[in-house]
Amino acid sequence: MIAENLKTVLKNIERAAQACGRDPKDIKLVAVSKRFPAEAITEAFSAGQHVFGENYIQELKEKHDQLGDGLQFHFIGHLQTNKAKIAAQACAMVETVDRIKVARELQKHLTVLGKKLDILVQVNIGLDENKSGIYAEEAEELLQNIKELSMLRAVGLMTMPPFTENPEDARPFFRGLRNLGNTLMKKNLFHNNDKIELSMGMSGDYHIAIEEGSTIVRVGTAIFGQR
Ligand SMILES: *Cc1c(COP(=O)(O)O)cnc(C)c1O
Repeated sequence: MIAENLKTVLKNIERAAQACGRDPKDIKLVAVSKRFPAEAITEAFSAGQHVFGENYIQELKEKHDQLGDGLQFHFIGHLQTNKAKIAAQACAMVETVDRIKVARELQKHLTVLGKKLDILVQVNIGLDENKSGIYAEEAEELLQNIKELSMLRAVGLMTMPPFTENPEDARPFFRGLRNLGNTLMKKNLFHNNDKIELSMGMSGDYHIAIEEGSTIVRVGTAIFGQR
């Protein structure tokens, strides 16, 4: 079941990319395995999926410890500073950096580990009171401050638009994130300012996100089923 779903999602990504003249290879799939057991991850891994997304750091750590280093975990939940140590150890990427305090805490633990970490800045592009992430106008200052942290590589932006029934409604938010990314790239605020990651799009709207320039889609339900 999982293997089949995965195949369908990858096919859809390929189709959506080709339909708008993009190379499907420029879009990475993060399989969001939150609240599914390690066995589900193993099944997806056997089917060729290597990158997984988790919302709770403790759950991520348990799965990481159980399944080993062959897998990559992206943290996509709200990161508390007292969990930064675990995140530094167990994550291949933290997609949800939204304040300097948590970035500094990551830097501290990464320095001890001698490990560099790719991070994304989470932007609350929809000005949604229920969502974490910084506002667009705060992104420049945060990235400027992150630049001084030698173990962090700010490789792009992430967003989660306000929930709507119609996936088309998310399009302006995806476009807004891309435009913000372009502006910040011109100001040399990222690790690589020729190309950044835009993490946007979930089960219901990844086809739209891809049309708007997404390079990372975070898909849970369409792969693992309802939570
Ligand atoms: C749960 C979650 C997803 C995946 O959502 P689905 O609708 O199940 O694909 C993506 N991103 C974040 C931040 C999430 O919390």
